[in-house]
Amino acid sequence: MPYQGPHDIDPAVRAFLKRDPALFIEGAWRASSDGEQFAVFDPATGKELAKAVEASEGDVDAAVQSAHQAFVDGRWRLLRPADREKVLLKLADLLENRAEAFAQLETLEQGKSIHIARMIEVGASVDWIRYAAGLATKLSGRTFDVSLPGGPSHWTAYTRREPVGVVGGIAPWNFPLMIALWKVLPALASGCSIVLKPSEVTPLTALWLAETALEAGVPAGVFNVVTGGGAVAGRALTSHRLVAKLSFTGSTATGKAIGHAAIDGMKHFTLELGGKNPALVLKDADVAKVIPGLMAGGFLNGGQVCAAASRVFVEAPLYDDLVAGLEQALLGLSVGSGLDPQAQVNPLVSADHQAKVQAYVADARAQGVELRGQIAVPDEGYFVSPALVLNPSEETKLTREEVFGPILNITKVADAEEGLARANDTRLGLAASLWTQDIGAAMDLTRRIEAGTVWVNSHVFIDPNMPFGGFKESGLGRDFGVNWLDGYTEEKSVCIAH
Ligand code: NDP
Repeated sequence: MPYQGPHDIDPAVRAFLKRDPALFIEGAWRASSDGEQFAVFDPATGKELAKAVEASEGDVDAAVQSAHQAFVDGRWRLLRPADREKVLLKLADLLENRAEAFAQLETLEQGKSIHIARMIEVGASVDWIRYAAGLATKLSGRTFDVSLPGGPSHWTAYTRREPVGVVGGIAPWNFPLMIALWKVLPALASGCSIVLKPSEVTPLTALWLAETALEAGVPAGVFNVVTGGGAVAGRALTSHRLVAKLSFTGSTATGKAIGHAAIDGMKHFTLELGGKNPALVLKDADVAKVIPGLMAGGFLNGGQVCAAASRVFVEAPLYDDLVAGLEQALLGLSVGSGLDPQAQVNPLVSADHQAKVQAYVADARAQGVELRGQIAVPDEGYFVSPALVLNPSEETKLTREEVFGPILNITKVADAEEGLARANDTRLGLAASLWTQDIGAAMDLTRRIEAGTVWVNSHVFIDPNMPFGGFKESGLGRDFGVNWLDGYTEEKSVCIAH
């Protein structure tokens, strides 16, 4: 039943929160080897929600050994592709049937609006599962004409796509369920096993997902979850000799460390990292559409979205109207817990992250930068008011660094060329948007903007069939799309003389 009020938590969520903290290894709940635990907090209240296990190196080793054994004996890898597809489709059905419970648990641990949890975290995840399920039956190789010595023998050469082995998946806290699935799905669709480490801030839905996958028919050991911090559990996973591929989503700094670990262990790796994403608004844009578009693009999930718009460059004639419209929209927002269906501004994920975002705002204010659109937020919980930051200088920290919060820079530019130059003047290149009704300008600028995804007259929409990843320091590799499994498979050439 959809959530109606504070006492209306789904009984399955209540029961899940009462369970003893455990890891999920070899298809079963497992207590920590050394008794270490950590608390998970409800961002809306700052109160403890549950405890989770701080996995030790030994726990991570047990999870990887389990995944490795499952890979070696082929209990998943050697199933018919159609049978792997069927299991993944069952997982989608189970998640869909339990959508409300998963959405509530996600809101409770992450803080996001229940609407976003329902629509994106769970709803979009179901679409992603079904998309990836279909890829399980699409793995294919190529045949080649070769120019080898002739004579009596003939040659046949072709390639096979084979799963790489054990995947180490490391996920961040902003979309804990959906991004966990972005690791789990390509691994399972291609026949790999996986050990997933969610962020220690938001470990709960990933654990529940693993149990649900077992129920759907994913064999024990194929999908394990270890919880705990990056320093111990994360490092143990990235350096484990039996892990063949690292799939990481998170900050650029951690991504670089993981890239180094991958090279040291000669592992495959995919890095989906941060963004400092520009939106370039040309003077012919329809402001009535730009305002709701940037409200979504900049403030979805409190701006805790890697692809969120964070730097808006607007041609001078539209500047005043855009600032006034965005300010009016922000001042009309209601604030509250993510579980409150009326609340549009929800808490950030953690006290640490709240302090980090507040520090960026304080720094801008100390430099005399003009802030607009701020509203009152509760003292209890990890709330930060949204804000527009007007014309910050290039030296202001929040102009250069990823804030990952509800803060949107708006900078007036003389023309599109200045806007483009400033948009591209960053080490990051995850996503960007252009707002214009001039198709010629849009086609020209989409080619010249340095970003892995460029939207025109929208921002932040992603789709399982559209490749996603970063230019520059926003990452290496692409997720999604028909070639998604390439990063989880080895290409083996076979050459037969006959
Ligand atoms: P972090 O990089 O801090 O952490 C991401 C994950 O890595 C967490 O599970 C973390 O564990 C783990 N980790 C940290 N250090 C190590 C290490 N040395 N070895 C192995 N694992 C480690 O990012 P956040 O969780 O703070 O997430 C926010 C960041 O993620 C933002 O920069 C955002 O842009 C990016 N992001 C990128 C996306 C994309 O697709 N490009 C999508 C979503 C977010 P723990 O936190 O438990 O210590």
